[in-house]
This record gives sequence, structure tokens and C-alpha cells, in this order.
Amino acid sequence: MLTKEEMIILQDISENGLSVSKRPFLESARRLGIPEAALVSRIKGLKASGVIKELRGVLDHKKAGFAENALVAWRAKTSPGSNASRGGLIQALVASGMVSHCYERAPDKAFNYDIFTMLHSKEKGRIEKFAKKVSQEFGADYASLFTEKELKREKISLDLLLRANEALIGGVNSPVRNFAGVGESALFAKRARGAYLWDVDDNKYVDYIMSWGVSILGHAWKGAVDAAVKSVRDGSTYGLTTESEVKLALLVKKRFKSIDKIRFVTSGTEACMTALRLARAFTKKAKVIKFDGCYHGHFDGLLVKSGSGNLTFGIPSGEGILASYTADTISVPFNDIGSFKKAAAKHKGDIACVIVEPVPCNTGVILPEKDFLRALRDITKREGMILIFDEVITGFRLAPGGAEELFGITPDLTCLGKIIGGGFPAAAVGGRRDIMKLLAPEGPVYQAGTLAANPVSIAAGISVLEELEADSSIYKDLADKTDELTEWIRSRAVKYGIALRVNTVGSVFTVFFTDKRVDDQSGACRTDKDKYSYFFKALLSRGVLFPPSPYEACFISRAHGRAELEKTKRALDAALSMMENNR
Ligand code: PLP
Repeated sequence: MLTKEEMIILQDISENGLSVSKRPFLESARRLGIPEAALVSRIKGLKASGVIKELRGVLDHKKAGFAENALVAWRAKTSPGSNASRGGLIQALVASGMVSHCYERAPDKAFNYDIFTMLHSKEKGRIEKFAKKVSQEFGADYASLFTEKELKREKISLDLLLRANEALIGGVNSPVRNFAGVGESALFAKRARGAYLWDVDDNKYVDYIMSWGVSILGHAWKGAVDAAVKSVRDGSTYGLTTESEVKLALLVKKRFKSIDKIRFVTSGTEACMTALRLARAFTKKAKVIKFDGCYHGHFDGLLVKSGSGNLTFGIPSGEGILASYTADTISVPFNDIGSFKKAAAKHKGDIACVIVEPVPCNTGVILPEKDFLRALRDITKREGMILIFDEVITGFRLAPGGAEELFGITPDLTCLGKIIGGGFPAAAVGGRRDIMKLLAPEGPVYQAGTLAANPVSIAAGISVLEELEADSSIYKDLADKTDELTEWIRSRAVKYGIALRVNTVGSVFTVFFTDKRVDDQSGACRTDKDKYSYFFKALLSRGVLFPPSPYEACFISRAHGRAELEKTKRALDAALSMMENNR
């Protein structure tokens, strides 16, 4: 999130460059009319926020006049059991001011070097001289390779980053797309297919964000693309009912035993908002119990101790929300049936509903303890409260009938989203006939939407749900792949002595850096955020994209095959081994 002044600074140094001198910022500071020290301090701030990383390619190379660049590979001669000269070598390289990148890798027989650096200077001779000096000082062997042609990838995302920050809030349109939570600058997606995503610089990643759980069959799955294209050719929106939305409703009903009737909406936020309105209208009561760290979209009444971007950016309760909107919202710790009972007893007779992500995925994946959901069901039934399962993530993800099927618990209302739109905007609220019939036009609870049940989203959604029906082994395959990967993470963590926990169910998982169990939001908040950031970056640089927050879930799709799993495992191994070395 750049200020105007920072934008001006970035623009100036990216356009005019820095001089190769002991005081490279001096000239730029004069141009900008600010003290040199102030400029340096702003640059440091930009570096801490991750923005400057994008700039470095420009600063260090082209504009700073570094005409010569060399890949120099090193092999430190450490005596057995000692890391001293290796550590010193790396430190000297990084501190030299000539090195823009320093990577470590396991040496192999074919190329027996384990430290790789990019060295830059105005003259070849200076690089050679420096390499020789360092080699002698640390007793290290080296091999150098000078570049002949340089492709400037950083420039593309730098320009875009500047333009995005100028036009969009935080450079994004949904907070979790800003990577500040892991100290990185945002990644701009260019295209995605199967398990892969390409950024604007054409870097290719095995993707585990998968549009935050939408793309269960992989990105741009042909069935959904074809269905959407066919549908859009007939017209992208009518403002009238179509046959296809009836078909999708019946497909959902078939899988969700709790759902008698459905209303399609455009986003998960709307689905949860409507469920709450219905519950209040049905019970004629006001209060709502939710659980810390669960996220039910961004509408006022439920933005209390919520997960997702709220947690990542430390905004637990939104400014701008009238106290009166959340006065009837009670949030209690997940998995803590005692606290829930206490709240239910305190507000006995006033509670309209309980809304819960049956498996919270917005504070990282949290597994419900045995009998927690059952207890919620029993108590809500006994006390006349409506139980709402927010299955925006878990619906069609954990099982064809979502968490409801997996845990054998029937809620009164269910919110769905993500997968049911087949990669396009669609969500739904559904449930008991006697509650649902309160919705307009049958009943007095008003809810509407110009683009609700948009035919393109519905067509894509049908294609995905039909494919999930047709592929009888998909849920087992997804779970097997997830188990393989999560077991690998655990085993590597043991090998490298890294304290971590992996919470997983079905095809979702979260890696928490802690040696304690993570059963609720406060447990998630006690995990090591810095370690997650390091891990995230180490994976990103190896072409594996995990969520840019320690409090989100990774999603595996049908398109994640053997090659993608193996690539991910190699990246995980390297990332965790680097973490061991950096302890
Ligand atoms: N509920 C849950 C469980 C979610 O994960 C989300 C979004 O991630 C929502 C509701 C809100 O959905 P949307 O972003 O479509 O408004």
C-alpha cells in the first residue's frame, strides 16, 4: 500500500536510476528535493514491505550502469561438522553490494557447487577480481559465467505494481491478494491452467491457492470453459429465470440432504447475509452466535473476530461498522463447547441462530473436535436456534455433500459458494422448506439480485457438479494426494528439526509453524508468522504458490498430478532445509 510520496520516489529511481557511487541516493534525493537520509529511510521502508524487491533488478542492473553480470557458483570447503567458512562466505557475498541474488542448493555430482550468486559490476575485471579475493579469503572454489543477454522480467511487474497502487486500494480488489502479510509484493496473475498459474512475468507456479478453493477440477477446466462459452453466446444475462438454474438447484439438492429449497446469489457474503436474515425472521429473535476466526463474508453483522484478510492484516473488527450492527453478534472460540454453552445460557431465549464453518478454513484449517458439531446440533435443536453451516469452502470440497455428509450432521440452513459457480460468481443459501419459504416473493424476507443465478455461472457450475458426480474416485484421489503431500511435509520437518503442524481434511490443509496443536483462532495466532513468510518465499522462488498468509488454506485440485506433487515435494524439501540452516 504505497503512499503518493513513495510512488514518486519509486518512479524517480526507476526512471532515472541511481548513480554507481558510494552515495547512490544523493542525486536522486536532490532531484526529489528531500534530504538524502529521508530518501534512504523511505527506501528501507519500501524494502521491508517487499516493494523494493521488484525494483532491485532495475536499480542494480540497468539504470545503475551495471553492464556486466555473472553467475558465480561457489563451493565452500568446510571442515566436517563446521559451517564457519560457509557462513562467512555467504555473509561476505551478500554484504559486498555486488550481489543481487544468492541461492543455495544441494550440490550434485554433475555440478558440485552449492552456492549460486549473481554478481554485477560495470566491468568484468572487477567481478573477476572480487571473486578471486573472496575465494582466497574463505578457501572456496568458484566458477563464473558471464551473461550475454539479459531479459528484464522485474520491469513488467514493477510498472504494473506502480499503476495498480495508483488506481486500486492496496493495489488489489480483495485484501488477501495483497502479499504484505508475508512481506512480499503482490503477484499479478496472467493466466492459469490445470494446477499451474503464470504471473505477468511468465513465472510458472504450481498453485495451491486455486482461487481460494474454487477450482477443484483445476484452472480453466475444459468442461466449465466450454459450458460458459456456449452459454455466453446465447446471452450473458437476462434478468429472468432460466431452465439451467433449476437444473443446478436440483443437483445441489441431490447432494445436500438438508436442502429442500435454494436461492442463488452472487457471492458467499450474500449467502451468509441472507441466511442470517432468514434465521432472524423465522425465530423472531436477534442474537447470533459465531466462532472466532470463522469468516462469513464481509457484511456488517458478522465482521466480528473474523478470519481471512481480517486476521492477516490484523483488523479483527471492521471500522465503519455501527456498533448497533454487531451488538447482537456473539463470537466464542471454536471447539470450545463450554464457552458456547455459557453464551447460549446467558442469552437464552434471544438467540436466532448459530453460524459456523464446520471446518474453519479462514484461520488456517482447524479441525472440529469429536462431537463439537454434534453438540452444536443438539443444543441448537433443543433451544430452538437455527443452525447455519457456512459451507462456502467445504461444500462439494470435503465430500459431494460437504461437511454435512462427512460428519453426518444436518443443519437447518446451508451457505454455498466457490465450487458451485464453476469458476464464475455464484453462491447459494438453501435449507428447510419452512424457513426458506419466508423469502420474497413467497414470504416477507426481502432478498434480490440483478445478476443472481447468472446463466454463465450456472452453466459452468452445472458442468463442474456433473463432473464431480461422474468421477466416482475424485474425492478419494484428492484426499490421497493431500495425505501424500502433508505426510511429506511432516516427515521433512522431522528430518530438518522444524517445529510445524499440518492440519488437513479432504483436499485442504494448512502448515502452521508451531510445536503445539492448533485447534482454534488463538492457537493459529500463536504460530510463527515470520517462519511462514520465509517458507512462503522459499516455495515461491521454487515455483510453488502457497497462500500469502499463515491463516489461509491450501487447496489441491484434480489437476495436481504426479509431476506437480513431485515438484512441490522438492520445493518443500529445499524450503524446510533452508529453514534448518537459518535457525
Ligand atoms: N464464507 C466462507 C467460509 C468463505 O471462505 C468466504 C470467502 O472466502 C465467504 C463466506 C464469502 O464469500 P465471498 O468471498 O464469495 O463473498
